[in-house]
Amino acid sequence: MNIINESPDKIRVRFAPSPTGYIHVGNARTALFNWLFARQKGGSFVLRVEDTDIERSTQEYERNLIQDLRWLGIDWDEGPDVGGPFGPYRQSERLELYHKYAKQLLEEGKAYYCFCSPEELEKERQAALSEGRMPVYSGKCRNIPPEEAERRRASGEPAAIRLKVPEEGLVEFDDLVRGRVEFDLKVIGDPIIVRSNGMPAYNYAVVIDDALMNITHVIRGEDHVSNTPRQILLYKAFGWKIPVFAHLSMVMGKDNTRLSKRHGATSLDQFRQEGVLAEALSNYLAFLGWSPPEGHEVLQLKELIKLFDLGRVSRSAAIFDYEKLYWLNRQHIKILQPEKKLELALPYLQQAGLIPANPSAEQLDWVKKAVEVLIEGVDKFSELPQKFTLIFDFGPEKLDQEAREIISTEKARKVLSVFIQKTLNLEEFNYEIFAQITGEIKKETGIKGKDLYHPIRVALTARASGLELDKFIPLVEEGSKLSFPRPILNCLQRLKKTASVLGL
Ligand code: GLU
Repeated sequence: MNIINESPDKIRVRFAPSPTGYIHVGNARTALFNWLFARQKGGSFVLRVEDTDIERSTQEYERNLIQDLRWLGIDWDEGPDVGGPFGPYRQSERLELYHKYAKQLLEEGKAYYCFCSPEELEKERQAALSEGRMPVYSGKCRNIPPEEAERRRASGEPAAIRLKVPEEGLVEFDDLVRGRVEFDLKVIGDPIIVRSNGMPAYNYAVVIDDALMNITHVIRGEDHVSNTPRQILLYKAFGWKIPVFAHLSMVMGKDNTRLSKRHGATSLDQFRQEGVLAEALSNYLAFLGWSPPEGHEVLQLKELIKLFDLGRVSRSAAIFDYEKLYWLNRQHIKILQPEKKLELALPYLQQAGLIPANPSAEQLDWVKKAVEVLIEGVDKFSELPQKFTLIFDFGPEKLDQEAREIISTEKARKVLSVFIQKTLNLEEFNYEIFAQITGEIKKETGIKGKDLYHPIRVALTARASGLELDKFIPLVEEGSKLSFPRPILNCLQRLKKTASVLGL
């Protein structure tokens, strides 16, 4: 579709979250699409905090929101924390502007005071619903003469302000994602623009802000499609240029219901805590409704900026696929430097009590090597402590079925008894010694391959599978020399324990 505003005006987009909770992946995707579009087009990206819901908005949520977006790799050219020429960027600090423009609409006869109480409106609504009619405001206060309205207000009667909209006709717009969208004015009614408590309604504040901030493209969630005609009517009332709209489909779980806690983590904060990399999450979020050209999958933000195409965003629901996200996370983990992996892994290992709060240089060096081998196949960093139990826990007394089967054959018992004999008087053990001994056993007994190595693996690790022994042996040997809160047994200690538990 060729509707992207290609006028010489600089492209300006915004992300306008309400600080009423942690940022959900659906909203983060909206932020990302806006940001990618702005960065690709050399435009500006504005962060505007929509905090007019005073009961539910908090500064703490705003702080978290800023922190989470920055973590994801998104930055803004204008916003409450960085300022800018079109500020303030918090709606609660723009109330005077909303009042000024409402007054203008009242003076021009395009808006009017409405004295209907919430109870009255609710009664009207219920009546309409029970008669099968759309619950649209009746327009009861439309024709109150302005002088009378002023008098009632002056006497303290609470009043909202409503926009006067035509009773018939269509409001239409070309949505960049959804194509042509039409709304019948019959289902709209005169929208409230300022509530009786003086706070602006969302549909009104958003128009004042988008217009005064010179926003050229409004890219937001599809849940706002039905608000758009009301906003367009406001642009028209003011005679302002209407921005281009792009409504992104909702993010759903695999069962086709809105993505929620039931499906798993949903907020940026949760994914960060789980140990999903920001670069993996932004990579995945970009694929919610948009697909990269063939052959591109593991992408960094700067590559996404180049490839992203707002005109090719799909209108069908975006299904959040955790498996795909974790796959991408594994790919992004793979390309991290070992130092970075260590830095990201440490908090999880410390939290699990495996690594002390102030590790020594030797301990850090060991953890770095251990992370390097144990992170293989890990979906997210929070799974690492579990992987580390291979090194820190050793329980030949509680072998699982598969491990028990491996050591129960005659060949296995033979291998193990010879192996134990040959290591009995050793003072030291390492991979070279291991290779030498297993070579001897092969020669002496003729047992080789799986029959030879699997029983030894079970004897040393108390598991049927895990790391290759050439990785495992050096790791436990080196680790056993460092004093960790939970000591690591070396191979000879392990063998002794296995021998005594299995009666070898
Ligand atoms: N504050 C609104 C929200 O969080 C913004 C919607 C819009 O982008 O216009 O849903």
